Amino acid sequence: MLPDSITQLVAALAKLPGVGPRSAERIALHLVQTDAAVVKQLAGVILQAREKIQFCTTCGSLTEKSPCPICEDPRRDGTLVCVVERAVDILSVEKSGTFRGRFHVLGGKISPLDGVEPEDLRIDGLEQRLTHEPIREIIIALGTDVEGDATSRYLAKRLARSGLKISRIGFGLPAGSGLEFADELTLSRALESRREMF
Ligand SMILES: [Zn+2]
Repeated sequence: MLPDSITQLVAALAKLPGVGPRSAERIALHLVQTDAAVVKQLAGVILQAREKIQFCTTCGSLTEKSPCPICEDPRRDGTLVCVVERAVDILSVEKSGTFRGRFHVLGGKISPLDGVEPEDLRIDGLEQRLTHEPIREIIIALGTDVEGDATSRYLAKRLARSGLKISRIGFGLPAGSGLEFADELTLSRALESRREMF
């Protein structure tokens, strides 16, 4: 029915998260009828963002410059590190407005069924940071699902050392979900009411 180039565009858009086949078709049909200069600009900003963004070599956040502004900011409390699953979780914690420490992105959760083992996560990097940085508390801010629980317990055991407090947020977070489902107030309370694991 549709010309090949439109079919290809629909297929490419449908691969994006949250874009179903119908939305993909609607966006594609919109784009091919939009002023070429506008489409060119959109393509340009997508490409530019992709080319500029990298992972911070220290914390794993998405940044244009590594180390990222949070790792570099001397006003942030370097004794406190919040461990999150994904780079986008940093945004959720930042929006809660109560956390003034630094971050560490694991890049996933331990899940043997999905083939995710501890060595697939950025745990080595966190251990290195413990030797180089004046970290006194690790706050584990993973989701409250089964993998989040297992990963938190694993981390608490592996990272345990004298002089280091390891705590976990959880209170008030929706059961079985990730940080993205918690509103700012809930997340802020969960951070404040964190419980010590070691
Ligand atoms: Zn960083």
